[in-house]
Amino acid sequence: MTENACLTSIAEVNRQFDAGLSGLEAVENNFPFLANQYYLSLINWDDPEDPIKKIIIPNSAEMVKWGSLDPSMEARNTKSPGLQHKYQATALMLISDNCGGFCRFCFRKRLFIKPEDEKIRDLSTDIDYIRSHPEISNVLLSGGDALMIPTSRLSKIVSALFSIKHVKSVRIGTKMPAYNPFRITGDESLQAMIQENSRSGKMLYFMTQFNHPRELTKEAKEAMDLLRLSGASLANQTPILNGVNNDPETLSGLCSNLAEAGNVPYYLFQCRPAAGNRHFTVPVENTYEIYEKAKRSLSGLAKRARYVMSHATGKIEVIGMDSGKVYMKYHQAANPGDIGKMMSFKRNPKALWFDDYL
Ligand code: SF4
Repeated sequence: MTENACLTSIAEVNRQFDAGLSGLEAVENNFPFLANQYYLSLINWDDPEDPIKKIIIPNSAEMVKWGSLDPSMEARNTKSPGLQHKYQATALMLISDNCGGFCRFCFRKRLFIKPEDEKIRDLSTDIDYIRSHPEISNVLLSGGDALMIPTSRLSKIVSALFSIKHVKSVRIGTKMPAYNPFRITGDESLQAMIQENSRSGKMLYFMTQFNHPRELTKEAKEAMDLLRLSGASLANQTPILNGVNNDPETLSGLCSNLAEAGNVPYYLFQCRPAAGNRHFTVPVENTYEIYEKAKRSLSGLAKRARYVMSHATGKIEVIGMDSGKVYMKYHQAANPGDIGKMMSFKRNPKALWFDDYL
């Protein structure tokens, strides 16, 4: 069995890792399990609080009824299957409905558990839409994981987008450097694709998702080096997750290790109110305090991430707090007139989402 061979059931995990997991069948039926040998080998099975285990292994707490399958109301911004246009300058294409592993906190669980197919069906329709909207300067390829599709197909999509004059950058959303770095280190055609496109005068970004410093292994760093040296830029986004990265030391370790690896800490997300996510969620004000404490030990380069809620109305940054109030600002907004709008609310230490302040 190779390091990146997939496992699709907890029974297999028990057989291969003597993990002693039980009573999770209902959870697996609710939201499927997927991981590989490499990622599971990062778990310390003797530690019941192991953060990597929390990211990938089902937990009975997922059965608590809470949240929705579309917490950021992406259906509102969908122009055709798999194409979203929420912010003026950015189009989002869901090009894959699979991932290198299924994060238990995923906010797009609907892609894996609902029967309807939300990924793009007709590339030419989406390209035509983007071509006819000159305000779109950048396109985010996501899913699922954009690196789950073959490089030859990814290359065609990137080339088609870069042939549009007003598209200046393409972002490839992927957790593959964490889940399966061999997808990158073992694929010379991917490196060639990046090199070719980086000569086009347009920017190719890889938007990674490292949640915990222990995911930044030697293999993951090799994958990031290859992407960078081929000509891509890297930026990382992660939700703040209870039991995974919600303490200042872990968060500062994550941000500083990313910055040292040439991967810009870009967004820290409030964990969205997605179905099955209640146990991962940290109150907004608590998260703000954790990040402020983490920042004390970080260089300016390592504390570039903004702490935001990716809300139906826009990306709402939590920018400050005093004894009575919490202050927020629209960093991005579905309604362009809201960008930069400041807001203040009475403190609510129990608030888990923007709506709890309204
Ligand atoms: S990599 Fe992203 S889309 Fe895939 S399961 Fe994790 S959070 Fe969901």
